[in-house]
Amino acid sequence: MTKSMLKKMPSKFPKMIVFDLDYTLWPDWIDCTNGPPYTYDESTNAVVNTTGEYLGFFEHTADIIALIKSFPDTQIGIASRTQTPEWAKKAIGLLRIPGLDNTPLVENVDYLEIYPGSKLKHFKSLSEKSGISCSDMLFFDDESRNREVCKLGVHFVHVNTRTGITPFQFENALHAFASNSGAKQTKMDGFFTAKSKMK
Ligand SMILES: [Mg+2]
Repeated sequence: MTKSMLKKMPSKFPKMIVFDLDYTLWPDWIDCTNGPPYTYDESTNAVVNTTGEYLGFFEHTADIIALIKSFPDTQIGIASRTQTPEWAKKAIGLLRIPGLDNTPLVENVDYLEIYPGSKLKHFKSLSEKSGISCSDMLFFDDESRNREVCKLGVHFVHVNTRTGITPFQFENALHAFASNSGAKQTKMDGFFTAKSKMK
């Protein structure tokens, strides 16, 4: 999936797109596994531990991350309340994004907030560190309880735990974000036209 897979360009992009980890980017609760040590399995783009458990992305995760990197000015954040932050950090240091020269996910993430507790704390910290208002953030998470971050102005999108984020859902979320958030940028179409002409 590249930016061309978007059927229509949104009129405005989020300044940050934030993802939960468990059942949003990958189909497991990492803290319910046996954890590291991990080895990276190149053929499946998964980590495998000594008990034979595999952990890899949902089908569209890597393509969606690569797509965001083609947006003009959108940061990427992770907000996870896992009980095993170090395991999660190891996994995102190994799982790769084929569309971004096979670089590990963690190299493509601007902000990490990975620790247990209410995600209100995660988002306050994301906003403080980045200087980006929560109302300029789009957030994907499978757990309804984390909707509480809407109180801060975050745009919450509920993810299906069986599929993860689909391209259809992702594009719809971008358009909903654009139409729900105040002033519109007008130069985005020009940006993409200019970029595609460079190829
Ligand atoms: Mg989750």
